[in-house]
Formats: sequence, structure tokens, C-alpha cells
Amino acid sequence: MRPNELSPLFALADVLKGVGPHVVTLLKKALKLPPGVTQPRVIDLLWHLPTGVIDRRAEPTVAAAIPGTIATLKVRVLKHKAPPRGNTKAPYKVSTEDETGRLDLVFFRAERSFVERQLPVGEERYVSGRVERYGETLQMAHPDYIVSPDHRADLPLLEPVYPLTGGLSGKILLKAERQALHRAPPLPEWQEPAWLKQQGWPSFQEALRRIHHPEDAGDVSAGSTPLQRLAYDELLANQLALAIVRESFKAQRGRPVKGDGRLRERIAAALPFKLTNSQRAALAEIEADMGAPRRMLRLLQGDVGSGKTVVALMAMTTAVEAGAQAALMAPTEVLARQHAETIAPLADAAGLRIGLLTGREKGRNRDELLSRLASGEIDILIGTHALFQDDVVFHDLAFAVIDEQHRFGVHQRLALQTKGGGGGANMLVMTATPIPRTLLMTHYGDLEVSKLTEKPAGRKPIKTLMLSTDRLEKLIARIKANVAEGAQVYWVCPLIESSDVSDLAAAEERHAHLTQVIGEGVGLLHGSMNATAKDATMAAFADGNLKILVATTVIEVGVNVPNASIMVIEHAERFGLAQLHQLRGRVGRGSRESFCTLLYQDPLTKTARDRLETMVSEDDGFIIAEKDLELRGGGEVLGARQSGEAEFRVAGGANFSDMLSAAHDDARMILASDPDLKTERGEALRRLLYLFECDEAIRLFRAA
Ligand code: ADP
Ligand code: MG
Repeated sequence: MRPNELSPLFALADVLKGVGPHVVTLLKKALKLPPGVTQPRVIDLLWHLPTGVIDRRAEPTVAAAIPGTIATLKVRVLKHKAPPRGNTKAPYKVSTEDETGRLDLVFFRAERSFVERQLPVGEERYVSGRVERYGETLQMAHPDYIVSPDHRADLPLLEPVYPLTGGLSGKILLKAERQALHRAPPLPEWQEPAWLKQQGWPSFQEALRRIHHPEDAGDVSAGSTPLQRLAYDELLANQLALAIVRESFKAQRGRPVKGDGRLRERIAAALPFKLTNSQRAALAEIEADMGAPRRMLRLLQGDVGSGKTVVALMAMTTAVEAGAQAALMAPTEVLARQHAETIAPLADAAGLRIGLLTGREKGRNRDELLSRLASGEIDILIGTHALFQDDVVFHDLAFAVIDEQHRFGVHQRLALQTKGGGGGANMLVMTATPIPRTLLMTHYGDLEVSKLTEKPAGRKPIKTLMLSTDRLEKLIARIKANVAEGAQVYWVCPLIESSDVSDLAAAEERHAHLTQVIGEGVGLLHGSMNATAKDATMAAFADGNLKILVATTVIEVGVNVPNASIMVIEHAERFGLAQLHQLRGRVGRGSRESFCTLLYQDPLTKTARDRLETMVSEDDGFIIAEKDLELRGGGEVLGARQSGEAEFRVAGGANFSDMLSAAHDDARMILASDPDLKTERGEALRRLLYLFECDEAIRLFRAA
């Protein structure tokens, strides 16, 4: 359905010259591909923005060239001087000159035939690179470019510099970027002409050209007009898509869902605790929404351990009291199973029938589950995103809860809101991450928020310590003693940034090491294990058969094992503070005194130290998020993966939130005057939505 004129941009990158399977693999690493996209496409190259330019415009004579600067010189090749045979350290030199002086081109470990081909004696060449003085002579080591006079136009006089990944050459990427740029078609303008003029922004195509083929170094610097234009395009696409989804969500008549409290009472009686005031207040807000004839979309925000699950269960029970069904979706299989396990005894007490559906339920079991769901013999269905597969049909779904929502990407969220639950089901979204307003806007447009501000009584504070990895062995010895006394330990392995070593390898290594020192009872949990193995490991840890659980960050959200009282996080300096807080929230849930040790690698930067010290002194997730904002500035509040900006490809930086507000208002105005995007500008805006892959929003128009 995507307009044909955009097809060249959505072709796979390997249609470009010089982009073979090997380069594709490298591009996958270098480009930030959106969730769900596995192969780099032409458009992904266009969203991969240069971080600066190399200015090769200085074209001095040899005599006038300034040592230490980048220059482009026109020289004649005089002679080649190969290094003495057997001396691999000496460079291969090529002397050249112009009317004003001599310039030596220097190649270390050069492939002789290559140099000879590039620089034939007696011919003229343009060479571009850093000029240096070496004793009396002027030289250029490994020129970046060597071209003959008739290929002079190939020399990028202002060369954009792109973020690379190991093995990917800047030249190959540049060549691919140039080709990508040529594929960008002129498109009808979707921005308001007056607004464009006021901002001094170029057209979309022109903006891309000025960024990827700059004629002015300023075009590539942060906050340049072409960059702002693209950033605003992206934000407008995002806000427009959200507004469209939200409108269609609201337009669906909700149904008032009212319970009589009889089942909730039984659950309350079965709980070993009383609800906190916060929980009660949130529940009242949720139930008021459910009881109203509008379709509900509400966020329940509460720090780790604040008890969101039980609020969700009570609200789901309300739906069941009203004679309907409810669903609870978790981001991972482990969490879905855990929810099912915690909810099962309470559900039993109230006579609720629950079902569990993840990617793993297959064949007969799955069929049977689905038929019971369809006939209404299941009251509450718990699962992963498998819940939203097409053949999952509810008898009468009135209420859907989505847990730990920040784990899902923007497009998944759009999908959930459009098809999620279907039939006008009320939705409650739960998150432990304090979400700043800007982030809420980028994720949802507008929505109501309930907050759990107090923790259940009797929670013991968690002692947090910082420890240099130099003292690792001491720590392990102490943990060995703790384990002997019955303590259980989470050991989280570092997030690896370089792609040389995988998270998994690091976790495996630590697992082997701890097993060696401590002996039996050390388990390993990581993302690429299959579901059965994951469950078995989690279950063994929950039952106390495993004493130490070495894990990659798969345990980050939601997991609840009250007896676990020690959390060790390796390379804590690499995590976002919100993520550390989430991880730490896995302990301090039982009666044991709890500890969280943040292992770090010396030397720490001042900011890194301040951040870790914040973790030591603070235990309030909201304050931690604010501190993180202060220390790291803008985009990284929640750790790259969770931050709102991180989900954008172009938008970000200093005026992010102002731009976002403008785009928010713009989107509302557009939809108010052209709700079906039928006008000329509306048609142009549809292309914008496709460009930024908000197809989900467009599908709504087709349905309508
Ligand atoms: P989160 O908000 O992080 O999802 P959970 O719902 O997993 O937190 O709850 C954390 C723990 O607190 C669970 O063991 C739960 O049974 C317990 N809990 C929830 N509410 C209360 C309460 N009001 N009093 C005591 N414990 C509670
Ligand atoms: Mg939870």
C-alpha cells in the first residue's frame, strides 16, 4: 500500500553498488535499525546521519600548505621509492611536486602494485589528506583520496563523516550514502509553507542532500536547519500517528464495566497483606474509568516493588464480576509465567479460571486453551504478545492490562492500541519506569496516569555499595559465606557494548568462575535460552534449588523471588540509572537484609562516579530518574533503550521537547481540519507517515 515513489527508499540496501553480504552485515551493526527490521534498507542509510565533516576545500600549492591541516593538492608524480627488501618497517615513498615545491606521499606496509597503479610516474593527481612536516620535507601519509584530474568531481570536498562499526570503511559507507541520496525522490511538501519559511527550513529532499552531501560544514552540525527539518518531520509523523490511533481508540464506544465486589472481596481475604492507600486510590481511578462509557486508556506508574500486579488483578477481577473476560500481557515469557504463578492461588480462592498463553503453547494444548477462551470458560488470560495473534479470540474481552510497557517499541504500542483487545476493550498499561512528560507524549500522545506513590509496609531498605572489580575475589568469598547461610543471589553480567564479546560469553564465563569457587547451585539465565530452559532455571531459583542466578539483563523487569536478598551488578557504570534501579528492585522483597553491590571498572569518570553514588544514596525511582537527567542531560534519562529519544532516528538533542510540543499541537490542528487526511496536504502527510513507518496509523484510514 506504500506509494510507489517511496519504493526505492524501502529497497534492501544490497541494491546499492558496493554493498554485498559482508557490508550488509556491517551495516546491520552500524545503522540503528528500527525494531522488527532485520535487513538494512536504503532508507536506514538516509537516517544514519553524519556526525561531522572533513573539510578538504583548502587547495593550496605545496609551498603554501600548512602542516597539520587537511588539504587537497594537485601534484605530478616524480618517482617511487620502495623500502629496502626485508625491511617491513620502512615506508614506501612516492615523491611528487608542483611548481612551488616537493611533497612526499608515504605508505606504510603498502601493497606495492596498488600504489603503482594509483600513482603512475609522470602523471598528475589530486591527493587529499593531512599534510605534515617531516624534517625538511613536507609529506602526506596515506592520502584519503588519490584521483586523476578527470575524476576530480569524485573528491568529496566536504566529506561527511558517519559513525562506523569495526570493519566498515568510511569510503564504502560514503559511497552507499551517496547512492541512497540519489534514490530520494522529490515529494510534495507536507509541512505548512508559512512554518517552513519562519523556520528557514529546506524541503525534505533538499534537507537530505544538505546533510549527506554538504556544501557547507554548518549543515551537518547539531541544530542545523536541514537537521531540524528532518527532526521535526519525524516528530510530526510520530505525533500524527499517535493522534490518529488515539482518535480511533476514543471513537470506539467503550462499554461500562462495573463489578459488584464479590470476587474482589475473596481475593482481598486471600491476600497475606492489606492494600496500601496508593493501591486503593489507583484501583478506584481505574474502576471509575472502567465504569464510564468511554474506552479507557490509563497508565499505572509505580516504582519497582510498589505492588502493581495486585492492582491489575483486582481490576481484572472487576471485569470478570461484570461477566466479561480480562487479559494480562507481559513482555517476556519468564514474566508471563511468573504472573500466572502468583495469580493462580488468588484466582483459585475467588474461583477465577485463568489460562496461560505464550509462544510456547502449541498444538493440542493451545487449541484447547483457545476454544475454552472463545467459549468464555477462561476468565483471565495471561501471556506474552502471543495474546494478540489473529486466532486468539475472546468470548468477551472487556479489559486488557499490559505490564512493563516500556519494553515495547513505539510501533508495537501502536499495534496494541489498534488491535489490542479489540472490541473496545479498556486498556491499562503498567510501568515501573518514571516516564517524563515528553516521553509519555512520544509514546501515547495523551493518556491518564495513576501513580503508586508508597511502598508496601515492612519493606527493608536495600544497602547499596560500590566496589571496584579489583576486589571481585573478596566479594565472591563474602557471597560464598552468605550463600552458606541460606541467602540467594542475582548476579547480573555486563551489557557488552563492543560486538567482539557477546553478553552471553561474559555471563557464561562468570557462571563458570562462580561454579568453580562456590560449587553447586549456580545457574545461568540468558536471552537466547529456549523458553523451557529459562522457566526451569527460574523455577529452580524461585524454589531455592539454585543459590546464585547469573543472568544477562533478562531479569531486569518484574521478576519476584522474595528470598533473594543479594544483587551483584557487574560493570554497573554501563547501565542507565533507571535500569540499575529496576535491577536492584529485584531484592529487598523478603525478610532478609538485602544488599546491592555495584561492581565497576576503574577508572571511573566523574559523571560515572556521581551516577553510581546517586544509586548508593537514593532509593526513590523518581528522584533517581531526575538525577540521571541532571547528570547525563537530555536523551538518556532512562538508559538509551528506554529513553523517548532513543526511539527516534533523527530527532533528539537540545530543543527536543520544544519541537515535540510544537509537533504535538501541529498534529492536533491537522486532524481537526482534515481528519481523514484527504486534502492535498493530507495526502503529502500520508507519505510522511510511510517514510517514518507509521503504517499502523495509516491502516486505520483504510479500515475506516
Ligand atoms: P511491581 O509493582 O514491581 O510489579 P509486584 O506487583 O511484583 O511489584 O509486587 C512486589 C511484591 O510486593 C509482591 O511480592 C507482592 O505480593 C507484594 N505486595 C504487593 N502489594 C503489597 C502490600 N500492599 N503489602 C505488602 N506486600 C505487597
Ligand atoms: Mg511487576
